[in-house]
Order: sequence, then structure tokens, then C-alpha cells
Amino acid sequence: MSELRWHPYLEQWVITATHRQERTFLPPKEYCPLCPTKPGSVETEVPYPDYEIVVFENRFPSLQRNAPQPAVEGAPLTPVLPSQGVCEVVLYTPQHEGEMADLTIEQIAKLVEVWTDRFEELSAYPFVKYVLIFENKGKEIGVTIPHPHGQIYAYPFLPPLIEQEVTSARRYYERHGRCLFCEVMEQEIQDGRRLLTRNEHFVAFVPFFARFPYEVHVVSLRHAGTLSELDQDERWALAEMLSTVTRTLRNLWKMSIPYIMLLHQSPAREVNSASYHFHVEFYPFNRTRDKLKYLAGSEQAGTFINDTLAEETAASLREALARL
Ligand SMILES: [Zn+2]
Ligand SMILES: [Zn+2]
Ligand SMILES: [Zn+2]
Repeated sequence: MSELRWHPYLEQWVITATHRQERTFLPPKEYCPLCPTKPGSVETEVPYPDYEIVVFENRFPSLQRNAPQPAVEGAPLTPVLPSQGVCEVVLYTPQHEGEMADLTIEQIAKLVEVWTDRFEELSAYPFVKYVLIFENKGKEIGVTIPHPHGQIYAYPFLPPLIEQEVTSARRYYERHGRCLFCEVMEQEIQDGRRLLTRNEHFVAFVPFFARFPYEVHVVSLRHAGTLSELDQDERWALAEMLSTVTRTLRNLWKMSIPYIMLLHQSPAREVNSASYHFHVEFYPFNRTRDKLKYLAGSEQAGTFINDTLAEETAASLREALARL
């Protein structure tokens, strides 16, 4: 069963997807469904002996191109809709072990090209309102297959936090005639205390208002709303920056830490937005080497408690970066 159920208190959709309970859960390495198919072995999701990057539709999707009619009936207060959308899996590398930090800049640059291509194709579907490119990394946050991969969800609505950002940015633009993200970036660059690093086209910092202890934002120096609006040099600089940030996070405690990475882009088909600005947000789930950040009572009410100061975590990350 799968459908969208309206949450009237929060005014947002909840996706039900009960068929996902049968998902493959932490398979042993030799049965990894994301590795290339070895000659003479059982066919994996990729029926080839090798690959560079692969994208395929999730076999246990939360959203489907041809979504079934909801099996439950809605009501005026609680409408239901088919869970129409697309869920894709992006395999970063044929290597089973590792993470983005192990990829070369060339490999990440190819990944950025693949993201751009998928973003453009999925954004063009009339039923798609938002394309979210993301990565969940680490079994601590529920990743069921360790093979390095990310995901793409094409939603038939704007996810609420994205909608909030888009709305705040639009309001700021109407009042001040400037992009909110450009202003915050300039403030961070000028202040410098929370800066991690910058290259020709991107800057990385822990935002003043970080919700997660080692949260890092990667922001395009030039105002652009989506991957498609970046040029070739800028996409290369993005790949370089993603490599630096992921290697820095790993170097912080010399261990692979669980994180969520989200690409924040303009809604589908909104090109050259004056108010929205492309950026990547990393939410690491460790608050210390051996303590995880849990989203508990206050966070469930919507208020994050960050046990660290952005100025201090940025300083630790800068040290980790210097030791790379
Ligand atoms: Zn694998
Ligand atoms: Zn901007
Ligand atoms: Zn954002």
C-alpha cells in the first residue's frame, strides 16, 4: 500500500509505503545488490561486470511514476492522493567499500554531471514539483546497504523545509531586493570564524545558526539556483569542495561518521530564480567521537538544541582539514 495522506495539523503530506518493510537489510558483502554482477554469480541490480556510475529506479520506492490508486479513502479533513513521483538510486562507484571521501575529484565531477542530468530530466515531468538529491550515510541513520550510493526523490509537492527556505528567501528578496543566501554567505566570509575553506567557485562554512554540531554548508560563490545553472568550471569546483568536505569530516576523528547530505536547489522548472541559491547541506550525526546526536523531544517540536558552538566546531574542522 502506498499513498499520500494529508496531515491537517502540520499542513503537509505523509507518504505511506508499507512495501518498503521487505527491503534488503545489511546484506553480507558477497550478496551486495549494488556491486557489479560477477561472472557466474547471481545477478545484482547492475547486470554488468563493471561500471562507473549507475542510476536506476528504487525497487522499494516511496513514490512511483505509475502510483496505484490509494487503497484507503480520504475525508475532507484528511485527503489522500496517489504517491506519484520517482525514486532513484545513484551508485557512486563499483567499489563496495568506501564512501564519497574515497572518490577522486574526477569521479565526483562525473557524479555531479549525473546529478545534473537526472535533475534536468526529472524536473521536466509535469507531476514533479521538487527534485531532492541526497545521501544518507552510515548504518546509525538507517542505511540498509553500505555500498557507496545516494538517492534522488522527485516529489509531487515541495518538502516542507524546502518550502520554508524558498518562502523565507522570496520574502527577503521582496523586502531587500537581494538574495538571502548571498547575504549570509558574505556575512560568513567577512566574519571568517566559521569558515572552513573556499576555492574558486565555492565556499564551505559552519553556519552561524547550525542545528547539527558539525553541520557544513557548501555554497556557490556566484548566485545560481540549480546545478543546471552552474558552468563546467563551477561543477568541477563543486566536486573538489565535496571531496574536501567529506575528507575533512572523516579526518575529524579519523573515522567514517554518519551524515546526511542534501542538495538544496530551486523547485522544478524554476530557472534563474533571483531569490533561491544553490547549496549543499551536510548534517553529521556525531556530536563527539563516540556520541550520536538524536532528534529527541525538543527537536520533535521543531526546535534544535546544538550542544556545540559553530565557531568551535568550525575551528576543529579547519584543523582536521589542515591535517589532510
Ligand atoms: Zn557492493
Ligand atoms: Zn544568491
Ligand atoms: Zn538550505
